[in-house]
Amino acid sequence: MKEPYSILGLERGASEEDVKAAYKKLAKRYHPDTNKDSGAEDKFKEISVAYKSIIDGAADKYDPMNFTQTQTDIFEHFRKQSERARQRSINPHLEIEIKIEFMDACFGAEKNVRYSYMDLCDNCDSYRQKHGDYKYKKCGECNGTGRLVFQNGPMVVQTSCSQCMSSGKIIDCDICYGSFYHKKDAELNVKVPVGVETCTVLRANGRGNSSGLKGKFGDLYIHILVSEHPLYQRDKLNIFSEIEVDYVDCILGSSIMASTIHGLVNIDIPECSNGNTVVCSRGNGINKQGDHYFRLHVELPKIIDQKERKILGNLNKYKKSKNN
Ligand SMILES: [Zn+2]
Ligand SMILES: [Zn+2]
Repeated sequence: MKEPYSILGLERGASEEDVKAAYKKLAKRYHPDTNKDSGAEDKFKEISVAYKSIIDGAADKYDPMNFTQTQTDIFEHFRKQSERARQRSINPHLEIEIKIEFMDACFGAEKNVRYSYMDLCDNCDSYRQKHGDYKYKKCGECNGTGRLVFQNGPMVVQTSCSQCMSSGKIIDCDICYGSFYHKKDAELNVKVPVGVETCTVLRANGRGNSSGLKGKFGDLYIHILVSEHPLYQRDKLNIFSEIEVDYVDCILGSSIMASTIHGLVNIDIPECSNGNTVVCSRGNGINKQGDHYFRLHVELPKIIDQKERKILGNLNKYKKSKNN
């Protein structure tokens, strides 16, 4: 039997991170579900045993003469662990979505977020700590046999009981009903950074669901959804909006007040502007790094008075005479 570290292709005393990485790589290569080569399954078992013995600290007490016994212990331990892991498989990573206002996305904000996560059931756990194991009761689904038998005409079909994972017993608990997990409420102060966009994902380390080990949690992924604004649209650091400009100002050019996320600013409308003209206000976008672009919307009069009619009439005459 080889030394556990060398099975994983590592030097004795390699870091936990290296051990995990090496195990992951080799387990993937030799997994019997994907690798059908003869010997792959044995190799997979060997890698798993080596990994468990390093993680559990057994490899440090490694004694070549005694390894067969250690190996048997580890196999048994590994089998129990994987059985328990199957029972306890929930995704430790938790995803939630929060909606934030357009302006909060522009300037950043602090948000108090309430959410629910799954933790190990305190009821089961305190019983286990006191008595050394969980409190079990007979599985009602299979009546403690671990198997389900169906009669289908002359055929007798036998399957393993999924309720108790063939063990014949389930955890006896009025809180989690044997699922090991219990929903809990939490609050988190989320610092929304300046300039976040819809689809930005923030990660809060260790604020997700229980990983199956007491006090160890997965991460919480917070998906940001930014509300639309009635006036502004956004593309990364730049802001876009429309602005109504009187037709005379468009023709003659003008200087007008316009609203940006940083407040009112003065913008220059160039002479002979039209509906395709875009005026840029530099540095008035997100974080003062982006710009604000105004698309002009030419405002034509709905009614004109006598004086305006006369002026426009004269203008019309002048243009016609100029063209002839
Ligand atoms: Zn419980
Ligand atoms: Zn059962």
